[in-house]
Amino acid sequence: MKDNFTFYVQTYGCQMNKNDSEMVAGNLRLMGGRMVTDMKDADIVLINTCSVRQHAEDRAQGTIGALKKYVREKGTKVIVMGCMAENMGQALMEKFPYLLAVVGPNYLEYIPEIIRENKKGVYVGDRDITFELYKNAVRFEPYRAYITIVKGCENFCTYCIVPYTRGHIQSRRMGDIIREVKMAVEAGAKEIHLLGQNVNEWGKEWGYKDPSFGDLLREVSKVDGIEIIRYTTPHPKYFGKDLVDTIVELPKVTRYFHLPIQAGDNEVLRLMNRGYTVEEFIDLIDYIKEKAADRYAIGTDVIVGFPGETPEAFENTLKVFEKIRFDVAYIAMYSPRPHTAAALLTDKFVSEEEKKRRFDALYSLQEKIAWEKNQQYVGTIDRVMVDNYDESKGAYIGRDDINKTVVFTAKEGYKPGDMVDVKIEKAKSWVLYGREV
Ligand code: SF4
Repeated sequence: MKDNFTFYVQTYGCQMNKNDSEMVAGNLRLMGGRMVTDMKDADIVLINTCSVRQHAEDRAQGTIGALKKYVREKGTKVIVMGCMAENMGQALMEKFPYLLAVVGPNYLEYIPEIIRENKKGVYVGDRDITFELYKNAVRFEPYRAYITIVKGCENFCTYCIVPYTRGHIQSRRMGDIIREVKMAVEAGAKEIHLLGQNVNEWGKEWGYKDPSFGDLLREVSKVDGIEIIRYTTPHPKYFGKDLVDTIVELPKVTRYFHLPIQAGDNEVLRLMNRGYTVEEFIDLIDYIKEKAADRYAIGTDVIVGFPGETPEAFENTLKVFEKIRFDVAYIAMYSPRPHTAAALLTDKFVSEEEKKRRFDALYSLQEKIAWEKNQQYVGTIDRVMVDNYDESKGAYIGRDDINKTVVFTAKEGYKPGDMVDVKIEKAKSWVLYGREV
């Protein structure tokens, strides 16, 4: 590869993928590469893919297909990385033979070498990684530092492909994490966003204790210059009440609790292999509501139409949603994924039509609850971190400490990462509206 090559990174999927892309981009820069914003101008195009749903794979494959003309006309090198690379491996190379490489999430550190030596191949499989290269990450949003603290998952929820694409759990050492946090803050980060497939499984290798995930939050909190610490995604099974106590003690840590319930019925939770019951989940939520009573928000993920979800089981989910009253819920219709146990339960599949009906029913309920809950913020002053300015709305968009999206008018000149006090004047289900005070 010539010196001063150009590269473009397209990222699909979760924040962990975003951080992986930042890490790869940072290491390509160190090799002399220059990141460009249009794939037409790139010598190397990297597509970082997601496998969580078939739709995500289809979109990425559409992009890879469209790149063929650049490979032919300009000799562009294309590398596919991430979960779909792991999931499809050699099959992806066979489908798109013009790819330079197919690289699973545990082989990303090979990418500089693959480019330098033009090494065509498929690099997939579970293996130990080094977190060393993450410290070179470029921040796509400089005010927000995504920091991967644990990779992999060994829970094998029966619908989920992640344990097959990201491999075994590997936790990063506390000292290494704190060093990266300090470097990010020195470079201008105001938000630290800790990442893991199950972020609160950090430390599984040392029994989750000494240090625990709560200890890590405490240490990150001590770093001066941070406005907010967020973390994605915790697993309810590993979310102890002691962690709630720690979070409530630490003013910089968000009091947005995102706890994926996935179903509100014990039989469906058992079929999903989630490792908790509805009663245990509600007990945890009640504890959060009590301990963080003055300010908190709760979000969740839920799947409707999981194989074996009877109409009664779905009714149970509706009831649980009415009881808990989440602030936000990301609702997905079940889609079978390769390798997973649930994909084999074909005799229990719910029809597409019924899945859509359940999606609509739950969405309407959640929309109503979220609208009602958000009315409590009208008239309050909210401290918001600016994400961007939306020309079409003539307003800034940002997020507050409990992860509410806030659209607001203010004087010109605020930059992403600036903190603004906003008086909330109107609230809808998913957005608060206001103006600077
Ligand atoms: S905990 Fe379950 S849903 Fe989450 S990544 Fe692991 S297997 Fe997937």
